[in-house]
Amino acid sequence: MKLDATDIRYIGNDEFRVLTATEMGSKNHEVVPTSLIAQISGLRNGGVNKILGSLARRNLVARVQNTSYDGYRLTYGGYDYLALRTLSKRDSVLSVGNQIGVGKESDIYIVADGAGKEMVLKIHRLGRTSFRAIKSKRDYLGKRKSASWMYMSRLSAQREWAFMKVLHENGFPVPTPIDQARHVIVMEFIDAYPLRQITSVPHPGKLYSSLMDLIVRFAQAGLIHGDFNEFNILIHRVTSEPIVIDFPQMVSTSHENAEFYFNRDVECIRTFFKRRFNYESNLYPRFQKTIDSKDDGDGEGFRLDVVVAASGFKKQDLQALEEVRWWINNVTLRIV
Ligand code: ADP
Ligand code: MG
Repeated sequence: MKLDATDIRYIGNDEFRVLTATEMGSKNHEVVPTSLIAQISGLRNGGVNKILGSLARRNLVARVQNTSYDGYRLTYGGYDYLALRTLSKRDSVLSVGNQIGVGKESDIYIVADGAGKEMVLKIHRLGRTSFRAIKSKRDYLGKRKSASWMYMSRLSAQREWAFMKVLHENGFPVPTPIDQARHVIVMEFIDAYPLRQITSVPHPGKLYSSLMDLIVRFAQAGLIHGDFNEFNILIHRVTSEPIVIDFPQMVSTSHENAEFYFNRDVECIRTFFKRRFNYESNLYPRFQKTIDSKDDGDGEGFRLDVVVAASGFKKQDLQALEEVRWWINNVTLRIV
C-alpha cells in the first residue's frame, strides 16, 4: 500500500468528519450503515453519500453491499490516513518518504518532521498474511466482535510502543520512541545494517557476548524479546553496536512458556553465529540461572506485568493478541 503524504493536507472538514464517523461506527459494526455515518457526522444524508463516494474513490473507505443494508467500512488506507493526520497535527510527522521495509506484519517508511529530521514510521498490519490461514483454521474473528484486524493492529502498536518506551527509559539499546497514534509508531532512525546483512565482523566472539548479555539483561528485567534474531538486531554503521528492534511479541519471564521463548532467543543467536561466522561457544545463558542470579536486593528492576498494567491493556485484549501472534508464528509460516 502506498502512502501519500501530500494527501494529508487535502481533505476538507466534512470529509474528515465523515471518515471519523466511519471509524467510530466500525467499533460495533463490521459494515457501518450509511445512515449511522450520517447520524454520527451530523451531516445531511445526501451530502454524506456524496462525500462517502469521494472517500471511496480515494480508497479511504470501501462500499459494502450487504443483504440487509448498504454501508461502508474503513480501509487500511483510511486508517493510515487518520493516523498520519493525527501525527501531522501534533507536528511529529510532516512528510512521508520511501518505504524501507515490508515485514510480515508491518510496513516501514522513512518520515520527517518540520525540521527535516528523518525518523522511522512503523505501520502495524496484522492480518495481512495470516488472514487466510487463521480463517481456514477457525473463524477466529467471528467469535470476537471487537477484535477486528485494525483493532488488533492498534493494540500491537500500542504494545510495541509501551515496551520501546520502558526499554529506552531503562537504558536498553533500542530506537528512541517518538510518537504513537492508532496502529503506527514513530521512532528514531537508526543508521545501521540488520545483522542479517553482515557477512563478517572483526570479533564475532565479542558481538556474540554482547548479544547474549542483552538477552540476560532483558530477562533480569523480567522480559524476553521473543523474536531475537538477525532480522531484529541492527548493527550501527558507525559504532558497530547492536540495537534491538521489534517488540510487540515480548513476554514476561513469568509467562508459562517463558523458558521456551528464552531458549529460542538464545538458540537463534547460536545458530546464526555458527552458520554465518563459523563461531561456536559453550558459553550461553540458561533460563533458571539467569533468573536466579537476578539482583533482588533493593534493585529497582521493572517488570513486564507492571508496564502492561500501567499502559492500560485489558486482559482479554492481551490474550487475543497473543493468540493471533501464535497463529502468525506457528501456522502462517507453514501455510503461506
Ligand atoms: P517487522 O515486525 O515487520 O519485522 P521490524 O520492526 O522488525 O518490523 O522492522 C522491519 C525492518 O525495518 C527491520 O529489519 C529494519 O531493517 C527496518 N527498521 C525498523 N526499524 C528501524 C529503525 N528504527 N531504524 C532503521 N531501520 C529500521
Ligand atoms: Mg522484525
